[in-house]
Amino acid sequence: MRWSRYFLFTTREVPADADVVSHQLMSRTGMIKKLAAGIYIYQPLGWRSLKKTIEIVRREMDEAGAIELAMPSIQPAVLWHETGRWEKYGKELLRIQDRHDREFCFGPTHEEVITDLVRGEIKSYRQLPVNLYQIQTKFRDEIRPRFGLMRGREFLMKDAYSFDVDRDGMGASYEAMRDAYQRIFEGCKLDFTVVEADSGTIGGEYSHEFMVLADTGESQVVSCPECNYAANVERAEASCEQADDEPAAEREELATPGAKTIDEVTALLDIDAAKLVKTLLYEADGEVVAVAVRGDHEVNEVKLQNHLAALQLHLAGDAAVEKATGAPVGFAGPVGLADGVRLISDRAIEGLCNFVVGANLADTHLGGVNWGRDAQPDAFVDLRVVAGGDACPRCGHALRETRGIETGHTFQLGALYSEPMGCTYTDGSGETHPMLMGCYGLGVGRTLAAAIEQNHDDDGIIWPLPLAPFEVLLASLNAKDDAVRGACDSLYESLCAVGVEVLYDDRDERPGVKFNDADLLGIPVRIVLGGRGLANGQAELSLRRDREKHDVALESVVERTTELLRELS
Ligand code: ATP
Ligand code: MG
Repeated sequence: MRWSRYFLFTTREVPADADVVSHQLMSRTGMIKKLAAGIYIYQPLGWRSLKKTIEIVRREMDEAGAIELAMPSIQPAVLWHETGRWEKYGKELLRIQDRHDREFCFGPTHEEVITDLVRGEIKSYRQLPVNLYQIQTKFRDEIRPRFGLMRGREFLMKDAYSFDVDRDGMGASYEAMRDAYQRIFEGCKLDFTVVEADSGTIGGEYSHEFMVLADTGESQVVSCPECNYAANVERAEASCEQADDEPAAEREELATPGAKTIDEVTALLDIDAAKLVKTLLYEADGEVVAVAVRGDHEVNEVKLQNHLAALQLHLAGDAAVEKATGAPVGFAGPVGLADGVRLISDRAIEGLCNFVVGANLADTHLGGVNWGRDAQPDAFVDLRVVAGGDACPRCGHALRETRGIETGHTFQLGALYSEPMGCTYTDGSGETHPMLMGCYGLGVGRTLAAAIEQNHDDDGIIWPLPLAPFEVLLASLNAKDDAVRGACDSLYESLCAVGVEVLYDDRDERPGVKFNDADLLGIPVRIVLGGRGLANGQAELSLRRDREKHDVALESVVERTTELLRELS
C-alpha cells in the first residue's frame, strides 16, 4: 500500500478522554475515530489489524470444530422475557421499539437467539453435540464507556455456544473451547493467563477468564507460582485462617472518642488491625445486612452479592446505618444490632478470640468480644478480597498479584437457558431432557487494544507480527529524487510480489517525520532507503522492537526481510 494513496492520517493530538495508552495510540495512528461515546469508526489501518485478529479467532474456532453463522443484531424482546433477562439485564440493554410499538433490543449477547434457533432445529441426541459461533457487533450501553476499544458501547465480539446431551459432553465442549482460546492468544503472540472467574450477569456454574497481562489492566489477578492456581480477585478464594488459642476474656467498653477509621482505632487502642473486626452495613435488594470482616481485610462485594443472591447491592446510607446500629456512622459492631438486621461474617474471623468491635454506641468500642457469648452471625462465609501475599487456597504458598485485561470469558451454563426456553432433545429411549450449554465470548477490539497495552514504548506501538496492520514499513528518504524513488518502487514491488504486506511511505515528507510515524505505527520490520544508501547499494533494515539498524545489500533485502518475518512469526 502506498501511503500517498492511503487513507491514513497520524496526529500528535491525544483525545481529551483517552486515559489509556491503547486508546491514545489507536487515535494517534488513525486506527480508530470516535463517532460518539463508546462508538468508533474502524479506519482502514485499524480495520486491517481487526481483520487479522478475526482471522486468528476464526481459524482456531473452525479448527476446534465450531461452526460459523451470523445472527441479527436486533433481537425481539419476547425471547428475553422467556429467560427473565429483559428485567434483569438492566440499563446496559439498549431497548428499542419499531413502528408497531413492538419491543426489541440491540443484542449485547446472543444466548436467547441461539437457544431459540437450536430448539427449533435440533430434536434428537443424534444431532448433538453442536457448537455455533459468530463474529459480530454487540451493543452494551456501558455506564462509563472509556478506554477506546477496550470498553466501547458498540464492539466486535466472537461468541460461541455449545449444546450437549450431558455433563461429560458439556465438559468436553468446554475444554475444546479453552484449548482453542489458548491457541488464539498464543497465535496473537500475547502474554496471557487463564483464571477462575465469577459468572456475572450471564450466570452459570463454571467459568474462566483469559487475561492479557498488562500493568494498565482493569482486572486484578492473583496467581500461585507454586501450583498454578489463578483467579480474578472478584472470585479468588481465601485460604482458611488459623484459630486463636486464648481463654475468653471479659467483655469491656473502650472509650474511642472520634476514632472511626481502622487506623485511628488501632492507634488509639494500640492493637493490631487483625484483632479488630469491622462491621459494614449494606443494602441488598432493600434489606439492611451487617457484614463483619477483619480490620485489615476488605469486603469482596461480588462474593457478598453472590452469597445473598441479591440483584442490587450497595453500602447503606447514613440514616440506615444509624437505624440499624443506634449509633453514628463509624461505630457499628456485631453486638446489639437492631432486631431483624442479619449479620454475616467473613470466615477469616471465625476462629478469632477477644477481638475489638464497634459498640453501636457513639465514641465507643468493645474489647474482649467472643463469638457465641457476645454475638453470633447467621453464617461464616468467604467474603473477603484476596490480595498478593495471601496464602494460596490450594497449596498455601504466597499468591502473586498482577493486573490483566479480560479479553475472553468462557462459561458452563448447564440448563440455565435451555430449561426456561424449552431447548430439549429426545434420548435413545424417547425421554426429553434440556440440552446443556456452554458459552464462550471473546472481545476482538479489546484483544487488539490489550495487545497495545502490553506492547508499546514512549514512541508508539510495537506490534506483535500476527496483529500488525502491515508486516513491513518501507520508507523512502528522498521521495523527490528520481533514482531513490525508482529504487524504492522496485523494492516495494518485489516485496509485494512475494506476498509481503508493505506500507510504503512514499510521501514527500522530511525524514524526521517519517521516522516518528514509523515508530508510532509500530510496524515490525522497517526498511529505509535514501540517497546515501542507494549510492552504496544498501538499504537499512531494523526491527521496531529493538531498533537496531543493519545495512543490507539491495539485492538481498527481499530475502532478508522474509527471513526476519519468519523469525517473528
Ligand atoms: P467486563 O467485565 O469487562 O464488562 P463482561 O464480563 O461484561 O466484561 P462478557 O459478557 O463475558 O464480558 O463478554 C465477552 C467478552 O467481550 C469479554 O471478555 C470482553 O473481551 C468483551 N467485552 C465485553 N464488554 C466489552 C466492551 N464494553 N467493549 C469491548 N469489549 C467488551
Ligand atoms: Mg460487562
